[in-house]
Amino acid sequence: MKTIFAVFGDPIEHSMSPAMHNAAFTDMGMDCEYHAFRVGQDSLRDALIGAKAMGFGGVNLTVPLKEKALSIVDADPLAAKIGAVNTVYFKDGMRGYNTDGIGAKRALDNAGVDIANTRVLILGAGGAARAIGFQFANDGANITIANRTEKRSHDLARDISSVGTAQGTGLTNLKGLIAQADILVNATPVGMHPNTDQTIATADSMHPDLTVFDIVYNPLETRLLKETKIAGATAVNGVMMLVYQGAEAFRIWNNVEPPINIMKDAVLEALGIQKS
Ligand code: NAP
Repeated sequence: MKTIFAVFGDPIEHSMSPAMHNAAFTDMGMDCEYHAFRVGQDSLRDALIGAKAMGFGGVNLTVPLKEKALSIVDADPLAAKIGAVNTVYFKDGMRGYNTDGIGAKRALDNAGVDIANTRVLILGAGGAARAIGFQFANDGANITIANRTEKRSHDLARDISSVGTAQGTGLTNLKGLIAQADILVNATPVGMHPNTDQTIATADSMHPDLTVFDIVYNPLETRLLKETKIAGATAVNGVMMLVYQGAEAFRIWNNVEPPINIMKDAVLEALGIQKS
Protein backbone atom coordinates (compact mmCIF):
# COMPACT_ATOMS: atom_id res chain seq x y z
CA MET A 1 0.00 0.00 0.00
CA LYS A 2 1.24 3.49 -0.83
CA THR A 3 2.61 5.68 1.94
CA ILE A 4 1.11 9.16 1.87
CA PHE A 5 2.99 12.38 2.64
CA ALA A 6 1.48 15.86 2.67
CA VAL A 7 1.87 19.59 3.03
CA PHE A 8 -0.76 21.43 5.09
CA GLY A 9 -1.35 25.18 4.80
CA ASP A 10 -3.73 27.88 3.62
CA PRO A 11 -3.37 29.01 0.86
CA ILE A 12 -1.75 25.87 -0.49
CA GLU A 13 -2.52 25.80 -4.23
CA HIS A 14 0.89 27.13 -5.30
CA SER A 15 3.05 24.88 -3.11
CA MET A 16 6.08 23.46 -4.91
CA SER A 17 6.39 20.60 -2.41
CA PRO A 18 4.14 17.99 -4.14
CA ALA A 19 6.06 18.30 -7.45
CA MET A 20 9.42 18.21 -5.65
CA HIS A 21 8.74 15.20 -3.39
CA ASN A 22 6.79 13.17 -5.95
CA ALA A 23 9.68 13.54 -8.41
CA ALA A 24 12.04 12.18 -5.75
CA PHE A 25 9.73 9.25 -4.88
CA THR A 26 9.40 8.33 -8.56
CA ASP A 27 13.14 8.56 -9.17
CA MET A 28 13.88 6.37 -6.13
CA GLY A 29 11.17 3.81 -7.01
CA MET A 30 9.42 4.39 -3.66
CA ASP A 31 5.72 3.50 -3.39
CA CYS A 32 4.78 6.90 -1.94
CA GLU A 33 2.67 9.92 -2.90
CA TYR A 34 2.77 13.52 -1.66
CA HIS A 35 -0.35 15.73 -1.66
CA ALA A 36 -1.31 19.28 -0.66
CA PHE A 37 -4.22 19.85 1.74
CA ARG A 38 -5.82 23.14 2.69
CA VAL A 39 -5.73 23.20 6.50
CA GLY A 40 -6.32 26.29 8.66
CA GLN A 41 -5.03 26.91 12.19
CA ASP A 42 -8.25 25.73 13.86
CA SER A 43 -8.04 22.36 12.10
CA LEU A 44 -4.30 21.70 12.49
CA ARG A 45 -4.51 19.48 15.58
CA ASP A 46 -7.27 17.31 14.07
CA ALA A 47 -5.46 17.14 10.72
CA LEU A 48 -2.19 15.99 12.33
CA ILE A 49 -3.96 13.42 14.54
CA GLY A 50 -5.81 12.17 11.46
CA ALA A 51 -2.64 11.97 9.37
CA LYS A 52 -0.89 9.99 12.10
CA ALA A 53 -3.91 7.67 12.52
CA MET A 54 -3.99 7.02 8.77
CA GLY A 55 -0.31 6.12 8.69
CA PHE A 56 1.02 9.15 6.77
CA GLY A 57 4.79 9.01 6.34
CA GLY A 58 5.22 12.68 7.26
CA VAL A 59 3.82 16.17 6.86
CA ASN A 60 5.22 19.59 5.96
CA LEU A 61 3.59 22.72 7.38
CA THR A 62 3.50 26.12 5.75
CA VAL A 63 1.77 29.48 6.31
CA PRO A 64 -0.13 29.95 8.67
CA LEU A 65 0.60 26.77 10.63
CA LYS A 66 4.31 26.72 11.49
CA GLU A 67 4.06 28.57 14.83
CA LYS A 68 0.76 27.00 15.87
CA ALA A 69 2.31 23.53 15.52
CA LEU A 70 4.63 24.20 18.48
CA SER A 71 1.71 23.73 20.87
CA ILE A 72 0.76 20.41 19.24
CA VAL A 73 3.94 18.49 18.36
CA ASP A 74 7.06 17.57 20.30
CA ALA A 75 9.48 20.11 18.73
CA ASP A 76 13.23 19.43 18.54
CA PRO A 77 15.44 22.04 20.31
CA LEU A 78 16.24 24.06 17.15
CA ALA A 79 12.57 24.25 16.04
CA ALA A 80 11.59 25.24 19.57
CA LYS A 81 14.18 28.07 19.57
CA ILE A 82 13.13 29.22 16.08
CA GLY A 83 9.52 29.08 17.26
CA ALA A 84 8.26 27.32 14.14
CA VAL A 85 7.86 23.77 12.80
CA ASN A 86 7.81 22.98 9.08
CA THR A 87 8.29 19.20 9.20
CA VAL A 88 6.38 16.60 11.26
CA TYR A 89 7.44 12.98 11.66
CA PHE A 90 5.05 10.51 13.24
CA LYS A 91 7.46 7.94 14.62
CA ASP A 92 7.29 7.76 18.46
CA GLY A 93 4.49 10.34 18.67
CA MET A 94 4.57 13.60 16.68
CA ARG A 95 8.02 15.08 16.29
CA GLY A 96 8.49 18.59 14.89
CA TYR A 97 11.51 19.99 13.05
CA ASN A 98 12.41 23.19 11.20
CA THR A 99 14.43 22.54 8.04
CA ASP A 100 14.41 26.10 6.59
CA GLY A 101 17.69 27.12 8.23
CA ILE A 102 19.58 23.99 7.19
CA GLY A 103 18.10 24.46 3.70
CA ALA A 104 19.62 27.96 3.57
CA LYS A 105 22.97 26.74 4.87
CA ARG A 106 23.14 23.94 2.31
CA ALA A 107 22.16 26.37 -0.49
CA LEU A 108 25.18 28.53 0.38
CA ASP A 109 27.42 25.44 0.74
CA ASN A 110 26.24 24.38 -2.71
CA ALA A 111 27.29 27.80 -4.08
CA GLY A 112 30.73 27.41 -2.47
CA VAL A 113 30.04 29.99 0.28
CA ASP A 114 31.24 29.10 3.79
CA ILE A 115 29.27 30.71 6.64
CA ALA A 116 31.70 30.20 9.53
CA ASN A 117 33.28 33.44 10.83
CA THR A 118 31.44 35.63 8.32
CA ARG A 119 29.44 38.79 9.00
CA VAL A 120 25.89 38.09 7.80
CA LEU A 121 23.37 40.88 7.29
CA ILE A 122 19.81 39.52 7.22
CA LEU A 123 17.10 41.84 5.89
CA GLY A 124 13.75 40.97 7.52
CA ALA A 125 12.72 39.60 10.90
CA GLY A 126 9.91 37.23 9.91
CA GLY A 127 9.75 33.43 9.91
CA ALA A 128 12.48 32.84 7.31
CA ALA A 129 14.84 35.38 8.92
CA ARG A 130 14.38 33.62 12.28
CA ALA A 131 15.24 30.19 10.87
CA ILE A 132 18.26 31.48 8.93
CA GLY A 133 19.48 33.66 11.80
CA PHE A 134 19.48 30.81 14.32
CA GLN A 135 21.11 28.38 11.88
CA PHE A 136 23.86 30.76 10.72
CA ALA A 137 24.61 31.96 14.28
CA ASN A 138 24.86 28.30 15.29
CA ASP A 139 27.32 27.83 12.41
CA GLY A 140 29.58 30.59 13.74
CA ALA A 141 28.47 33.67 11.76
CA ASN A 142 28.12 37.12 13.32
CA ILE A 143 24.49 38.12 12.58
CA THR A 144 22.99 41.55 12.02
CA ILE A 145 19.22 41.67 11.61
CA ALA A 146 17.98 44.80 9.79
CA ASN A 147 14.22 45.15 9.66
CA ARG A 148 11.65 47.73 8.57
CA THR A 149 9.96 47.51 11.98
CA GLU A 150 13.11 48.04 14.01
CA LYS A 151 11.75 46.64 17.29
CA ARG A 152 11.32 43.21 15.68
CA SER A 153 15.01 43.21 14.69
CA HIS A 154 16.07 43.79 18.31
CA ASP A 155 13.68 41.09 19.57
CA LEU A 156 15.01 38.55 17.07
CA ALA A 157 18.67 39.47 17.70
CA ARG A 158 18.10 38.99 21.45
CA ASP A 159 16.61 35.53 20.80
CA ILE A 160 19.46 34.52 18.46
CA SER A 161 22.01 35.67 21.03
CA SER A 162 21.18 32.50 23.01
CA VAL A 163 23.10 30.49 20.37
CA GLY A 164 25.61 33.01 18.99
CA THR A 165 26.38 36.65 18.20
CA ALA A 166 23.60 38.90 16.90
CA GLN A 167 22.51 42.53 16.84
CA GLY A 168 19.40 44.28 15.54
CA THR A 169 18.90 47.54 13.66
CA GLY A 170 16.59 49.36 11.26
CA LEU A 171 16.93 49.78 7.49
CA THR A 172 17.95 53.45 7.47
CA ASN A 173 21.74 52.98 7.13
CA LEU A 174 21.58 50.05 4.73
CA LYS A 175 24.57 51.13 2.63
CA GLY A 176 26.78 51.32 5.74
CA LEU A 177 25.52 47.94 6.94
CA ILE A 178 26.22 46.28 3.58
CA ALA A 179 29.76 47.75 3.54
CA GLN A 180 30.41 45.82 6.80
CA ALA A 181 28.89 42.52 5.57
CA ASP A 182 30.33 39.43 3.86
CA ILE A 183 26.90 37.93 3.15
CA LEU A 184 23.61 39.77 2.58
CA VAL A 185 20.44 37.70 2.92
CA ASN A 186 17.14 39.09 1.63
CA ALA A 187 14.49 37.47 3.84
CA THR A 188 11.75 39.93 2.87
CA PRO A 189 9.27 39.46 0.01
CA VAL A 190 10.62 42.59 -1.76
CA GLY A 191 11.15 41.78 -5.46
CA MET A 192 8.84 38.77 -5.45
CA HIS A 193 6.37 38.24 -8.30
CA PRO A 194 4.44 40.35 -9.32
CA ASN A 195 6.54 43.23 -7.90
CA THR A 196 9.62 42.22 -9.84
CA ASP A 197 10.89 45.78 -10.41
CA GLN A 198 11.38 46.32 -6.67
CA THR A 199 14.66 45.84 -4.82
CA ILE A 200 15.75 46.45 -1.24
CA ALA A 201 19.33 47.36 -2.29
CA THR A 202 21.05 48.54 -5.47
CA ALA A 203 24.50 47.92 -7.00
CA ASP A 204 25.99 51.18 -5.73
CA SER A 205 25.62 49.96 -2.13
CA MET A 206 27.40 46.62 -2.78
CA HIS A 207 31.06 45.59 -2.93
CA PRO A 208 32.64 42.83 -5.08
CA ASP A 209 33.50 40.59 -2.07
CA LEU A 210 29.84 40.44 -1.05
CA THR A 211 27.63 37.37 -1.49
CA VAL A 212 23.95 38.24 -1.94
CA PHE A 213 21.55 35.41 -1.11
CA ASP A 214 17.99 36.30 -2.15
CA ILE A 215 15.66 33.65 -0.72
CA VAL A 216 12.86 34.84 -3.01
CA TYR A 217 12.71 32.23 -5.81
CA ASN A 218 9.97 33.65 -8.05
CA PRO A 219 11.43 35.12 -10.21
CA LEU A 220 14.63 33.09 -10.11
CA GLU A 221 16.74 36.16 -10.82
CA THR A 222 15.26 38.99 -8.80
CA ARG A 223 16.10 42.66 -9.36
CA LEU A 224 18.32 42.42 -6.25
CA LEU A 225 20.36 39.64 -7.90
CA LYS A 226 20.60 41.65 -11.15
CA GLU A 227 22.00 44.55 -9.08
CA THR A 228 24.40 42.08 -7.44
CA LYS A 229 25.81 41.08 -10.81
CA ILE A 230 26.21 44.73 -11.84
CA ALA A 231 28.27 45.24 -8.66
CA GLY A 232 30.47 42.23 -9.53
CA ALA A 233 29.36 40.46 -6.33
CA THR A 234 28.27 36.81 -5.96
CA ALA A 235 24.55 36.10 -6.49
CA VAL A 236 22.74 33.07 -4.99
CA ASN A 237 19.03 32.58 -5.69
CA GLY A 238 16.39 31.03 -3.41
CA VAL A 239 15.63 27.82 -5.31
CA MET A 240 18.25 25.64 -3.64
CA MET A 241 17.06 26.70 -0.17
CA LEU A 242 13.60 25.45 -1.13
CA VAL A 243 15.05 22.22 -2.51
CA TYR A 244 17.36 21.56 0.46
CA GLN A 245 14.69 22.27 3.10
CA GLY A 246 12.55 19.69 1.30
CA ALA A 247 15.47 17.28 1.00
CA GLU A 248 16.14 17.56 4.74
CA ALA A 249 12.47 16.76 5.48
CA PHE A 250 12.71 13.78 3.10
CA ARG A 251 15.79 12.55 4.97
CA ILE A 252 14.06 12.90 8.37
CA TRP A 253 11.06 10.86 7.17
CA ASN A 254 12.81 8.20 5.09
CA ASN A 255 16.36 8.13 6.46
CA VAL A 256 17.81 8.38 2.94
CA GLU A 257 19.23 11.31 0.97
CA PRO A 258 16.90 12.16 -1.95
CA PRO A 259 18.08 13.06 -5.50
CA ILE A 260 18.71 16.81 -5.22
CA ASN A 261 18.94 17.53 -8.96
CA ILE A 262 15.66 15.71 -9.67
CA MET A 263 13.95 17.78 -6.97
CA LYS A 264 15.48 20.98 -8.32
CA ASP A 265 14.34 20.23 -11.87
CA ALA A 266 10.81 19.50 -10.60
CA VAL A 267 10.70 22.88 -8.84
CA LEU A 268 12.02 24.71 -11.90
CA GLU A 269 9.43 22.96 -14.07
CA ALA A 270 6.64 23.83 -11.60
CA LEU A 271 7.86 27.44 -11.71
CA GLY A 272 7.74 27.32 -15.51
CA ILE A 273 11.53 27.70 -15.79
CA GLN A 274 13.66 25.63 -18.16
CA LYS A 275 15.45 22.71 -16.46
CA SER A 276 19.17 22.90 -15.65
P1 NAP B 1 7.19 37.05 6.95
O1 NAP B 1 7.24 36.20 8.17
O2 NAP B 1 5.90 37.66 6.54
O3 NAP B 1 8.28 38.24 7.15
C1 NAP B 1 8.44 39.22 6.16
C2 NAP B 1 9.55 40.20 6.59
O4 NAP B 1 9.80 41.05 5.49
C3 NAP B 1 9.19 41.07 7.79
O5 NAP B 1 10.34 41.24 8.58
C4 NAP B 1 8.78 42.39 7.12
O6 NAP B 1 9.08 43.53 7.90
C5 NAP B 1 9.67 42.42 5.91
N1 NAP B 1 9.07 43.19 4.81
C6 NAP B 1 7.89 42.92 4.16
N2 NAP B 1 7.69 43.84 3.21
C7 NAP B 1 8.74 44.70 3.24
C8 NAP B 1 9.08 45.88 2.51
N3 NAP B 1 8.30 46.34 1.51
N4 NAP B 1 10.23 46.52 2.84
C9 NAP B 1 11.03 46.07 3.82
N5 NAP B 1 10.75 44.97 4.56
C10 NAP B 1 9.61 44.29 4.27
O7 NAP B 1 7.72 36.24 5.68
P2 NAP B 1 8.70 34.97 5.63
O8 NAP B 1 7.93 33.73 5.80
O9 NAP B 1 9.84 35.23 6.54
O10 NAP B 1 9.15 35.00 4.08
C11 NAP B 1 9.90 36.07 3.54
C12 NAP B 1 10.21 35.78 2.08
O11 NAP B 1 11.05 34.64 2.00
C13 NAP B 1 9.00 35.46 1.21
O12 NAP B 1 9.18 36.08 -0.03
C14 NAP B 1 9.04 33.97 1.05
O13 NAP B 1 8.48 33.53 -0.17
C15 NAP B 1 10.53 33.70 1.06
N6 NAP B 1 10.89 32.35 1.55
C16 NAP B 1 11.67 31.56 0.75
C17 NAP B 1 12.02 30.32 1.19
C18 NAP B 1 12.88 29.43 0.32
O14 NAP B 1 12.92 28.22 0.59
N7 NAP B 1 13.58 29.94 -0.66
C19 NAP B 1 11.61 29.85 2.45
C20 NAP B 1 10.83 30.69 3.25
C21 NAP B 1 10.47 31.96 2.79
P3 NAP B 1 8.11 44.06 9.08
O15 NAP B 1 8.49 43.28 10.31
O16 NAP B 1 8.41 45.49 9.18
O17 NAP B 1 6.68 43.77 8.64
